[in-house]
Amino acid sequence: MSASIGLIGLGVMGANLALNIAENGYTVAVFNRTLERTAEFMESADELAGQFVPTQSLEDLVAALPAPRTIILMVPAGAAVDAQMQALVPMLEPGDLLLDCGNADFNQTQRRLAELTDTGIGWVGVGVSGGSEGARFGPSIMVGCTAAEYERVSPVLTAIAAQFDGKPCCARLGTDGAGHFVKTLHNGIEYADMQMLAEAYGIMRDGLGWSAPKIGEVFARWNDGVLNAYLVEITAEVLKVHDDTSGGPLVDVIADRAGQKGTGTWSAIEAQKLGQPATTVEAAVSARCVSSMSALRTALSGVYASDEGASVSASDDTIEALELALLAGRLCAYSQGFTAIAAASEQHQWGVPLAEVAEIWRAGCIIRSRLLDDMASAFRDGVEFDNLLTHDHFTPQMTVAVPALRQIVGASVAAGLPIPALSAALAWFDGIRQARGTANLIQAQRDFFGSHSFERLDEAGSFHGPW
Ligand code: NAP
Repeated sequence: MSASIGLIGLGVMGANLALNIAENGYTVAVFNRTLERTAEFMESADELAGQFVPTQSLEDLVAALPAPRTIILMVPAGAAVDAQMQALVPMLEPGDLLLDCGNADFNQTQRRLAELTDTGIGWVGVGVSGGSEGARFGPSIMVGCTAAEYERVSPVLTAIAAQFDGKPCCARLGTDGAGHFVKTLHNGIEYADMQMLAEAYGIMRDGLGWSAPKIGEVFARWNDGVLNAYLVEITAEVLKVHDDTSGGPLVDVIADRAGQKGTGTWSAIEAQKLGQPATTVEAAVSARCVSSMSALRTALSGVYASDEGASVSASDDTIEALELALLAGRLCAYSQGFTAIAAASEQHQWGVPLAEVAEIWRAGCIIRSRLLDDMASAFRDGVEFDNLLTHDHFTPQMTVAVPALRQIVGASVAAGLPIPALSAALAWFDGIRQARGTANLIQAQRDFFGSHSFERLDEAGSFHGPW
């Protein structure tokens, strides 16, 4: 039996994506490196099993697909993708398309595309967000390819994507690495948002001494307001789960060490390379690194006791301020993320449609939130993109929320509670809104030790000081 599309890698994402594709009427040829997994997958496919062609080798997979073929790769980023590409290329024909639907460093996507130039085989970088649930029932899909390639792949991608107001959350965002770049920054914003939510949890747990279920109630309330977002919703869910083994909240017995696979680091590095630092993402990545240093943290907690006496006051005002502080922090993170995307788009001449990015993030993906609808409208207004925070929809929100962010950062710093992402957001905001900064001194220092010269405010040209 021949299939209409191929899929390699039946892990968490691949298996769910394959089921989603089949449910939308496609016949899918599947291959997995470990063959037992393919057999397990076929058993779990139940009534959809008839729509799969299980294959035992890449040769079989290619043979099951009439040319021109479309083959999805859903394997870990890096060496696994290269290995699959090298193994497949000799079996393929000009016109065939390989879709890398895993997370990828967009630089690698560009390199792979360049390597395939003379073969006539297409390489399409596709960012897929939504975790296993999204992959199964509708992810947000960010595509980088030519318009002609998109015409070929969009029927299946839009069919499996999440929908918002009847519109699929799938779009071509530019050529080559555009889709993977935007997906990377999506994950960067996700890192920042998760870290800020964890910091708010820490303030309530360690500053106010509240239990996990009580904190969960706060998050549940927040999810009905301006902070409405999938990540807030699941935080509330997580905090209320009871653990039978310990007899207490499950979250209390989960190790405080967070893993990471690279997209946060890629975001921070790429934003820095573009001269548009995403400081909230940097803080979140660093915080995950610090979280993994549990032995050192334990040792130092015995040496440097936390400040006695200072605490965060447990009042309704504090919780209200915390909600607004998170809103300000989230707006800063989005602003940084979109600015980095706009800068990359300009550098690579992708023409990324920012309104469409905000639109396809409104459903299916991990950072979906009420704010994204407002952001989509802001970009749709045709505002020349400078910074999200210059838009008159967000300036009133920031004007109200920043004093709360300042209050929370101040109280947390005084109480010795670590809040790296919230304080990074505030520090960045205070810098970006300061018309007269302090880099005049930096320029003088640079000229002093390195004759780098400086510009004057009152005269055009390049100058040296008398040092
Ligand atoms: P996973 O559950 O670990 O599955 C990985 C799959 O890749 C398995 O089928 C595995 O086959 C195969 N594989 C691993 N190394 C391989 C190699 N060297 N050659 C050939 N096949 C290999 O991973 P996943 O969570 O589905 O993630 C897949 C991709 O999606 C990654 O790029 C990930 O970053 C991205 N992603 C994941 C999520 C998520 O929430 N999990 C969300 C968005 C994007 P075996 O069975 O033989 O090991």
